[in-house]
Amino acid sequence: MRIVIKIGTSTLAHSTGRLNIRRIEQLCKVMSDLKNSGHEIILVSSGAIGMGVGKLGLGGRPEDIASKQAAAAVGQCELMYVYDKLFAEYNHTVGQLLITGIDIENERHRKNFENTLYKLLELGALPIINENDTVSTDEIEIGDNDTLSAIIASSINAELLVLLSDINGLYNKNPKTHPDAEMIEVVRKITPDIVALSDGKGVLGTGGMATKIKAAELVTKSGCDMVIANGAYPKKLYDIVEGKPVGTRFIKENG
Ligand code: GLU
Repeated sequence: MRIVIKIGTSTLAHSTGRLNIRRIEQLCKVMSDLKNSGHEIILVSSGAIGMGVGKLGLGGRPEDIASKQAAAAVGQCELMYVYDKLFAEYNHTVGQLLITGIDIENERHRKNFENTLYKLLELGALPIINENDTVSTDEIEIGDNDTLSAIIASSINAELLVLLSDINGLYNKNPKTHPDAEMIEVVRKITPDIVALSDGKGVLGTGGMATKIKAAELVTKSGCDMVIANGAYPKKLYDIVEGKPVGTRFIKENG
């Protein structure tokens, strides 16, 4: 199976912005094992800005563009250093792809990006993708990695997109304010009622439920299932890949 896994900042970093070492180690181990079992894994990793915030001791996500971009420049290095090191422990080679909205909109850029991605897969490498935050500005930014991972999953005909974040799945009410909220295990059709369940954003990252539901709309149309799950339980990735009920699964159209 061709699987795109998106890891959100809330999964990779502690609330301090510093790396959650135990978490990332477990995730890399499970993804390596899934790859060993024959799956193609494409990782979309957030965390550049969040990690840069931690490393530069900025005390919180900055508002101004230059500081955000400086944080991303520092954090992206740390991210790739850690991924390279951890995947190498399991004998996997990683490759970094940083793109902006222009690379999606411009046909030639997009083709080049896809060619590189396919070549990396053919060579058995594990592509790790993020938005190129150091150069992207409002006009050209994709803006969040839920959207970026959905664009990638649909353009390379992935069969599964997994969005790992700090929530267990999609709830029928906001679980932070409603203790009786219940998680929805399967969504077969993205109705206006489902869209209405979107709420606010995380603290260090950019995505929220709204971007996740939009991502689901995009990928399910192109024949790809999408699962929202809690990144705090890396071993659950095995169950997700086997189609077992974890988090919320959006079923592909006509699936
Ligand atoms: N590209 C951003 C980063 O690496 C993350 C975007 C997102 O959180 O969706 O920090």
